[in-house]
Amino acid sequence: MTITDFPTTASGVRSPIPHRQTQGEHALAAARFQLAEAARFLGLDDGMHRMLATPRRSLTVSVPVRREDGRLEVVQGHRVQHNLSRGPAKGGIRFHPATDLAEVTALAMWMTWKCALVGIPYGGAKGGVAVDPATLTTRELERVTRRYVNEILPLIGPEKDIPAPDVGTDEQTMAWIMDTYSANAGYSVPGVVTGKPTALGGSLGRAGATSRGVQIAALEAFAAMNGSRSPEGATVAVQGFGKVGALAAQYLADAGCRVVAVSDVGGAVVRHTGLDVAALRAHAAETGSVHGYRDADPLSHGDLLELDVDVLVPAALEGVITADNAPRVRARLVVEGANGPTTPEADLILADNGVMVVPDILANAGGVIVSYLEWVQNTQAYSWSAGEVEMRLRDLMENAYRAVAELAGGRDLTLRQAAHAIGVERVAEAHRMRGLYP
Ligand code: NAD
Repeated sequence: MTITDFPTTASGVRSPIPHRQTQGEHALAAARFQLAEAARFLGLDDGMHRMLATPRRSLTVSVPVRREDGRLEVVQGHRVQHNLSRGPAKGGIRFHPATDLAEVTALAMWMTWKCALVGIPYGGAKGGVAVDPATLTTRELERVTRRYVNEILPLIGPEKDIPAPDVGTDEQTMAWIMDTYSANAGYSVPGVVTGKPTALGGSLGRAGATSRGVQIAALEAFAAMNGSRSPEGATVAVQGFGKVGALAAQYLADAGCRVVAVSDVGGAVVRHTGLDVAALRAHAAETGSVHGYRDADPLSHGDLLELDVDVLVPAALEGVITADNAPRVRARLVVEGANGPTTPEADLILADNGVMVVPDILANAGGVIVSYLEWVQNTQAYSWSAGEVEMRLRDLMENAYRAVAELAGGRDLTLRQAAHAIGVERVAEAHRMRGLYP
């Protein structure tokens, strides 16, 4: 199948999915397209396909928030549990002005396949609140968080649905969630969230887990492409310099790569001889952005994605590699730190151009793996060493990578198609074994 097999949409782009309005609707259409491909490959019947395409529960809530000047504002929040067949629901909470129910549903669906793919006993969930945290004071942010959690309280719990950080949320947000939930329960419940501060039962290694997983996935891909796991001198561009992107850049630099460009919402910077990632992280921590970093040149957001580099790591938001810019992507390898950064149309173009894509549900699974390890430690009221956590993370990531690469190689699939086939089949199998109630 090539891009020319698809009809041209109103926006003039050839696409297998009809034109959508919001970024979230695009993401959901992409997630459903990927599921449909997997269902076809696996020969799932229509009923099973429809059940997997539909979230189990979705809750939309109004979150009234008192601003510092006394005004009352109301923002919308969501929590979606996509699938519960393999265990409790698991997934991050996003604070972003553009988040909507469709986006949260897509992200929850990807979580389902991701957990199944790496073999951890969870279903997929996601939450979101349509706020821009950069425009709120810390006290306003705390009030939004606590009220949102109070509204979704009937859904969450350590045996039901366990939130974690995502875009715009962090350890502090998780601490407020844990406290709000515990205050309602009447006792401390650390296992209700993961990605907590270690002082509250957070796991060693969780903060860098997604980025560590990106590094592991990138090194596995190098080994497949070059016959060597050593990335010495390979050039890297990273889009997004938040929790995932900044440490992914750091870990890839630590492994011997030359990180030449990074970006965040404030701007992009490039230095062809290699950036000092640690210095850049310090600059971003101090100023709030990579923009203005002295030992590099400014770059446009769009140009970063099209740099002539060995590896591109999108680690910001969905839908950034599209049919428009995919033909100009010159990286040989794309490792998806973000969820859904590549549209289905772009996927076809990249595959035609010989670009290898390590898909989100594999490449960024390190975060949910160590979240799972945190939850296991919480349920045992015990904590493991950083070394033990990393060993387990590495084991689960490498096993998942090998299973995906083997299926892709054996059946002539892309890594994304193979990863979805494995994840979807495991969830379908759980449904078949449990049967349908009543
Ligand atoms: P974050 O809020 O910490 O960082 C997001 C970064 O993206 C920020 O640096 C922001 O400035 C940047 N950004 C936003 N729009 C941009 C644009 N147009 N161009 C360039 N940069 C832009 O969020 P995060 O937790 O690092 O999450 C990033 C991605 O990784 C998301 O897709 C998220 O779902 C995914 N993810 C996160 C985790 C996790 O553990 N945090 C786990 C798996 C997947």
